[in-house]
Amino acid sequence: MEYQNASEMNGGVDRNLNACKLNSLCREKKDFKDTVDAKKLSHIEKAYTAILSELGEDVDREGLLRTPLRAAKAMQFLTKGYKETTQDVLNDAIFDENHEEIVIVKDIELFSLCEHHLVPFFGKAHIAYLPNKKVVGLSKLARIVEIYSRRLQVQERLTKQIASAISEALEPAGVAVVVEAVHMCMVMRGVQKINASTVTSVMLGRFHDDPTARKEFLSLTMRK
Ligand SMILES: [Zn+2]
Repeated sequence: MEYQNASEMNGGVDRNLNACKLNSLCREKKDFKDTVDAKKLSHIEKAYTAILSELGEDVDREGLLRTPLRAAKAMQFLTKGYKETTQDVLNDAIFDENHEEIVIVKDIELFSLCEHHLVPFFGKAHIAYLPNKKVVGLSKLARIVEIYSRRLQVQERLTKQIASAISEALEPAGVAVVVEAVHMCMVMRGVQKINASTVTSVMLGRFHDDPTARKEFLSLTMRK
């Protein structure tokens, strides 16, 4: 199965930032981006004030004074995946390796927002791929899950996007992704029990074509 150290996790990012600091053009770009982000934050903050007041809340009461700003920041954080691409994350992290055995990463925690209700769904992703010369640090697989889950999502699309991203980046002989998640929009309305999770899966390449490979992945990941 797999190895790879997690220490490289932030190395690439730091290097890019240092190179960026030396470059004044880069700094101007960053200043511009900060202004745009601050403007957006204040627009979202105002919108949350309107929502609270339409809900009948007194937006001036002490407990709510900073709530619109906090909520705006939280929403920006929970959707920050829109600003990231798998290329950014995988740059410098793909290695040539003569490794053809199945690589499995189980129980990658994920937190996302359902795009229908803007309410959280959360759970775990299990990922496997069959390398075709290229391998990637295991921590990067978790980052791919993060990039796509920090967006407004439906679970089926999230599962597909994770699988496609790995497939495009590594061109492996096969990719399998299973996502198990609890949807608060269903639990809180009583449509789903709190411990009942929704399971979605995408099987590409060998995991799609070969029932034995698929079974091996499922038996290794779905075991409780
Ligand atoms: Zn929902």
